[in-house]
Amino acid sequence: MSEENSNDPSGFDRLRRAAEHVPGAEAALARLAMPLEMRALRLALDRDDGTRTYLPAWRCRYDDALGPTKGGLRFHQGLDAATVERLAFEMTVKCAVMDLPYGGAKGGVRVDPKALSAAERRRLAAAYARAFADTIGPERDVPAPDVGTDAGVMGVIADAYAGATGRHAPGVVTGKPLAAGGIAGREEATGRGAFCLVQQLSQALGLSSVCRVAVQGFGNAGMHMAELLAGTGRRMVAVSDSSATLVCEDGLDLGPVAAAKREGQSLADLDGLGGGRVRDRDAILSLDCDLLVPAALGGAITGANAGGVGARVILELANGPVTGEADTILAERGITVVPDVLANAGGVTVSHFESLQNRQGEAWPEERVRERLSEAMGRCGAAVAELARDCGLTLREAAYVRALERLAAAVAARGC
Ligand code: NAP
Repeated sequence: MSEENSNDPSGFDRLRRAAEHVPGAEAALARLAMPLEMRALRLALDRDDGTRTYLPAWRCRYDDALGPTKGGLRFHQGLDAATVERLAFEMTVKCAVMDLPYGGAKGGVRVDPKALSAAERRRLAAAYARAFADTIGPERDVPAPDVGTDAGVMGVIADAYAGATGRHAPGVVTGKPLAAGGIAGREEATGRGAFCLVQQLSQALGLSSVCRVAVQGFGNAGMHMAELLAGTGRRMVAVSDSSATLVCEDGLDLGPVAAAKREGQSLADLDGLGGGRVRDRDAILSLDCDLLVPAALGGAITGANAGGVGARVILELANGPVTGEADTILAERGITVVPDVLANAGGVTVSHFESLQNRQGEAWPEERVRERLSEAMGRCGAAVAELARDCGLTLREAAYVRALERLAAAVAARGC
């Protein structure tokens, strides 16, 4: 899967089209045509074998009209500046859709995270925090985990930032370990948020309580969502990872599969487990099911394979898994797409709760986090669905209209 597709409409094109439904959005559109700040730096990483490697690293703060910028930190071998900028733009839209007091950002390092030892990962995270100490900050720009990074990386960044600035500031990152000021339920938040959205929109999407589901990408986001859906009676007909698809028409027994995956095994080696049969990695896309959840990387469903998608509804748990060309084909085929800027917003929503918790010096119980997450996903999901219905828009178009309304109002109010 490639993160980029030169034929794709940019997120900005989508926002420009949304402006047809948002009177007075010209100033916001002009502002959002380019990022506020884009930094590219070279990081030096001392390897365990005594050699030194140099790696390109970026941080893009796309816009701060709604508040300090916020967005993930990605360690991935395919990362480039254009992807970072696109993802930062999409975070701007996502925070606006979700009524959050943040602008959007994204950052990362072009590195294969699986080729790093635990010590190398820690050194890389600390090097990133030191190098970007002037860019990030609790009131300026707040990173969070993304592909290839986790709570441990966030803990290291908080510590290295404190060392570089001389200030204890746990709010510089979210998604931290609990013992370092993290919040209960952050790890499951993206998957749980999408699950809450499915619960909220199930009637509008025509998804019954026993619908057939396939989840592409069995990592943090995909696994949590799959477990929650399976736990409420939905039939999990397939899951996939970078090695294979595991299929069971009658519904996988997810418990042993998830346990093996958490131990670091690949699905390709799990034939027979949970009743599943191993098939090729991309077989999941064409399986007959009600709901397909792409939860791996961007560019999974393209003009080349959208015609063969076997699902009635696609929920974008990954960022940008459906290309613009595929979006058109899926719409023609009557397949509904729940867009990433809404569907995977559970993570940034709980990150916001973590920031509130840090500022108040509190530790929220997990039940409170879940209730507030469910309320936020339900409220914003219903608002997008209502806008789509009333204006005859797709859910993606409606999400961009909602975001632009909020951004335009903030730009007008601040005169910025
Ligand atoms: P992750 O934990 O690294 O998991 C990614 C999963 O995708 C892994 O299971 C990986 O397989 C699999 N994968 C990679 N390439 C694949 C391919 N070609 N076909 C099928 N599966 C493939 O990442 P994550 O945190 O769950 O994030 C996944 C997506 O959700 C990303 O687009 C991310 O930006 C988005 N997202 C995540 C969060 C969050 O809070 N985690 C929030 C918002 C958006 P292996 O297990 O074999 O490596």
